[in-house]
Amino acid sequence: MQYAQHPASEYECVSPLSILIVDDSESERALIRYTLENLNHNIIEVSNGQDALKIIAKSKGSIDLILLDVLMPIQDGYKIATKIRCHEEKCNDEWCPIIFLSGKNNPADIARGIYSGGDDYLVKPVNSVILKAKIIAMQRIAMMRRRLIETREQLRILAHTDELTRIPNRRKINEIIDSEIARSNRNLIPFTVAILDLDHFKNINDTYGHKAGDLVLQSICLVLKKTLRAEDSIGRIGGEEFCICLPSSCNEPLKDPFERFRQAIENSHVLFDGKRLSITASFGITLFQPKNDTPASVLERADKALYIAKNQGRNRVEIL
Ligand code: GH3
Ligand code: MG
Ligand code: MG
Repeated sequence: MQYAQHPASEYECVSPLSILIVDDSESERALIRYTLENLNHNIIEVSNGQDALKIIAKSKGSIDLILLDVLMPIQDGYKIATKIRCHEEKCNDEWCPIIFLSGKNNPADIARGIYSGGDDYLVKPVNSVILKAKIIAMQRIAMMRRRLIETREQLRILAHTDELTRIPNRRKINEIIDSEIARSNRNLIPFTVAILDLDHFKNINDTYGHKAGDLVLQSICLVLKKTLRAEDSIGRIGGEEFCICLPSSCNEPLKDPFERFRQAIENSHVLFDGKRLSITASFGITLFQPKNDTPASVLERADKALYIAKNQGRNRVEIL
């Protein structure tokens, strides 16, 4: 009671929880729902474990707490708890707290609840004061869990993002190429891969300094991002080298979009120390051939095309 009336810490003030109630008895569900809705929590209820598993699979970590009945037809709460834990492990999801609610009250049942994946076990009829206090304990866990999910998401983004230009890094663009290849091999639809390299970029560094070079790289990425469509992908694969993937609808590598990108770069400039800096880029493009190509072979061909573009005088698009 004391906690409910006088929040002891910031934990008691966290936003409402999403609580999943799994119980085959409608009246039991209604009773718990009444208590929890009075505490402003959001309730989802289902009458069996199978429906609970479906909701959890779709929830993407948005459920903060599961209240799980033990005795239910088809599969009991213990089996469902174990399946929830397996699902979390398989999908690399964060642990979602489970409290068992059951009429069974002997020590072996309570212990089995914990061994099967539960975090706590309350005996029915559940005293509403105890339920409220337990929910506060779970709010503390929910808050830690949300922080963990947030941190993991930030780390995931960091691991895939190039620090200077904020576009996908080499690791991410390789992943994108792998998934484009898998799709292309499935649908037998080719796609276009390009390697873009800035021309005489070293001159910018040598003449204006590294900061100016950084600014040019950032500005080129903004120009490219504006010119690319939502379904196109770009990544920084090296210092002043980028990879671009475009979905193709025909058996020819798409040259026109790259001509547009080339012109957009050529026509852009960035101001540094009151000076207009501009640069050009060379493109090597090729088509990924489903079933015949590997990630290495397609990138090697794009690289050879780029080499030709450089040798032919730069600021041009070459196909191989
Ligand atoms: P080319 O037309 O033949 O490609 O000539 P280039 O000068 O562009 O190529 P080169 O490989 O000789 O030089 C690339 C330069 O890019 C050298 C390197 O110091 C610079 N560079 C690589 N990464 C960064 C970066 O993050 N910031 C800055 N400012 N410079 C970078
Ligand atoms: Mg270069
Ligand atoms: Mg280079």
